[in-house]
Order: sequence, then C-alpha cells, then structure tokens
Amino acid sequence: MDIEKAEKAVKLIRKSKYMVAFTGAGVSVESGIPPFRGTGGLWNSTHPIFLEIEYFHKKPLQAWKKIKEIFYDKLGDAEPNMAHEVLAKMEKRSFLESIITQNIDHLHQKAGNKYVYELHGTYRRLVCTECNTEYDMSFADLNFLPPTCYICKGILKPDMVFFNEEIPAFAKKRSFEEAEKTDLLLIIGTHAEVLPAARIPEIAKKNGAKIIEINIKPSPFSHSITDIFIQARATEAMEKIGELLYL
Ligand SMILES: [Zn+2]
Repeated sequence: MDIEKAEKAVKLIRKSKYMVAFTGAGVSVESGIPPFRGTGGLWNSTHPIFLEIEYFHKKPLQAWKKIKEIFYDKLGDAEPNMAHEVLAKMEKRSFLESIITQNIDHLHQKAGNKYVYELHGTYRRLVCTECNTEYDMSFADLNFLPPTCYICKGILKPDMVFFNEEIPAFAKKRSFEEAEKTDLLLIIGTHAEVLPAARIPEIAKKNGAKIIEINIKPSPFSHSITDIFIQARATEAMEKIGELLYL
C-alpha cells in the first residue's frame, strides 16, 4: 500500500465537513462473507435463480432452503473486521456522517455505526409477502421453512433486494441525499457496478465532493472521478488511516 496516498487521504478527511462512506462486498470479504461476483464469488458455486423474486414467489420452500444455507447459517457468526471498526470510530469521533452500503450483512451496525443506509436491504429483517409486517429475524424459527407471518400466515421474505426487485425507496432517497451533501466520499470495497449504487459516486462528484477510493483492483472510478486511489485491502488501508487519524 502507498503510505503517501494514505497520508493525503487523511489530510482530506481532516478538512472535510461532511464525509460519507460508500461500501460494498470488499469490506465484508475479510469477515468471511463471499462477494456475489468475481473470483470466489457466490455465483461461481450457486445459481443466482435463488435470489430471483419470481422464483421466490413460485417456490418459496426451495428458495428459503438455499437462502438459509447461504445467508442465515453463515452471516450470524460473522464479526466486523478492522475496516468496519475504523468506520465506527470515525463516526464516534465525528469524522464520518453516515455510511451508504450495498451489503446486507448488518456488520456496520454490529461494529457500532448508527447512520447506515442499506441500499440493498438487510438479512436481519423479514417482511411478510402478504401484509408487509416486518420482523426482526430473531422472531422467526428457521428450523421450519418457509417462515410465516404471525398475523396473516403469509410467507416471510428476507428484506433484502432480490433480482428484479425494487431498491427500498427510503434507503435510496437517503443515499442520494447523502451523496449530494457530502464533500468527501470514501469508497471502500466496491466497483458499484449495478444501479442505482453506480450513481452514488457520480452524484457526489457532480456536487463538488472529493473522492477517496480503496479497492484491491481499479474500478471504473479509479482513473476518472477518484481523487486518491489507494490500491489495498479494506482492512489494511483502513487500519493505516485509523492510525494516522489517531483513532
Ligand atoms: Zn402477514
């Protein structure tokens, strides 16, 4: 990792009045959560049909069996890593206003961040497909699939965004507002290839924000709108930045 770039990034962080972080799979990989795409990604071993909303409605039991195996049997034990922890400290020390994330793993909240906008929803919440009642996953007994609603017996669905499903309106609205407001966007572990996530960096840049990017490989932003590109793992780069900020 280029230390000089980390130092430059810290200078921008200290100067910023409204920093927002924008995170993706690369932040959680080191907590043992596989990304969907790319090498070692989920779609190499699992067919994406299990996360298509049409399939879920047609075959909820089959979909749930796979979803439970992929998400619920694994994510519950996952712990925040150094990158999550530094972001939580940044919020506590008022360097960071909020996080826009594409992750559904709840690890930012587990690390202590309070202002987290989950563009793709969260596995922690289940929602009734009939009456829209929401439940924390701790209320559901996943030994009996598919889990059903206590009120109407409708089938419960993880409140994360499936393929061909709309992005949650509130999270999208708040994320775009944060992207407009920020003067420094800290992109970590994402190439933001899907819409509307892909628009977040553009919106920030258009509104005059500086952009720091931490990714293992260059993204479409790295050589276009990014001001400081730190090529490194999320934990490595964030640990260094945390150190330089005396967090
Ligand atoms: Zn219901």
